[in-house]
Amino acid sequence: METGDGLILRLVPAEGAISPGQLRGLARAATALGNGMMEITARGSLQVRGLTAETVAPLQDAVLALGITPRLGLAIDISPLSGLDPREVADARPLAQRIQEGAAGLADKLGPKVSVVIDGGGAIGLGGHKADVRLAALRSGAEGMWSVTIGGGAPELLAEKDAAARALDALSQIAALGRRARATDLPGCAAAQGDHGKPLAPLGTFPLADGRFACGIGLPFGAGAANLFAALADAAEAAGSRDLRPATERVLLTTGLDAEGTRAFATEARRLGCLVAPDDPRAFIAACPGAPACICAHFPARDLAPLVAEALAPLLDGTVTVHLSACTKGCAHPAPATLTFVGMDEGIALVHEGAPSGARGPVLPVDALAAKLATLAGTPRLPGETGRGLLARMQKAGLLAGLWLREGNDRPMVKT
Ligand code: SF4
Repeated sequence: METGDGLILRLVPAEGAISPGQLRGLARAATALGNGMMEITARGSLQVRGLTAETVAPLQDAVLALGITPRLGLAIDISPLSGLDPREVADARPLAQRIQEGAAGLADKLGPKVSVVIDGGGAIGLGGHKADVRLAALRSGAEGMWSVTIGGGAPELLAEKDAAARALDALSQIAALGRRARATDLPGCAAAQGDHGKPLAPLGTFPLADGRFACGIGLPFGAGAANLFAALADAAEAAGSRDLRPATERVLLTTGLDAEGTRAFATEARRLGCLVAPDDPRAFIAACPGAPACICAHFPARDLAPLVAEALAPLLDGTVTVHLSACTKGCAHPAPATLTFVGMDEGIALVHEGAPSGARGPVLPVDALAAKLATLAGTPRLPGETGRGLLARMQKAGLLAGLWLREGNDRPMVKT
């Protein structure tokens, strides 16, 4: 993909996991062939940034030489702990394989954003992730049954084989409408009311069925220098890790640890500046690279993200999501957020409960941001009021709009 800082290579390991040595090798290749920045996306893909037309093929060769098999074809998301998780209702892998094989002939007819989510009901839920086709394992009393939802349509309860057939039928119907089509274009499948809730990042320790543990750590705002990824690979190996798994919400999981190895890996990850607990304020903030990495950027989104995390920490109680998008494209967070700071006209606009494309102004200079954040975070809450509730009340009363108005600037606020 072409971006403001060159080409990106996006990679999902076919089996969902790579070894510490493979991650180290990928980091070396990213330094030699890209601009040395790597990312884990909200959907759990690895990205290498800053490639050129000349370095893409050598990087692809390096990936294959490392023995990493990339997932090709339809994007099917399952829990990174599928098959290892003692809490899961069903192992999503056989269903994923059945759908992947069945959809092989549709690969060039479906648009690249068409996705399938298969939620086996384990410790790492995928409920907050948008999908064209969603399958969720049913709990108690309905073993072997899946809820299948196409776009925003009504769920159907089906046995696994029928669930796969229904998913494939829907994918065929989408493909028949052309590569721009999505499930919501199908009759009766119009978009459901959006749930702006953020899926919880799988940070911390997860017991595994074999008595060992997985440990999830987060890259600060999803990104880091390639040498940070190499250092995490070293730490995982030293802790006795079996493998590393890029996971949803910009998390890197390592599996197969004993209790002491889990503590050692988390301690080293914390020392390296990574997130190790789900209540870290940074877990609720998405930020694109911004300036200077991206030529479309109107402000340095990722450089400002630590300041935003610190300033808004009192509001980040798990109900609020924040997105720093240095232009209206919104690369870092496809869904709406509670607050989105959007780069436009060399400044920052504010969107409440919407996406960056909804930004209309007014636009504040970047150096005015810190004071506005302090005012937001210092606004008293009513008893029992959540951070999201406070922001909704402020928006209703016109206080958010007022906050974002500069003296002498009476343009309307933002589309909500
Ligand atoms: S959202 Fe950020 S990374 Fe994406 S194009 Fe805009 S400035 Fe660039």
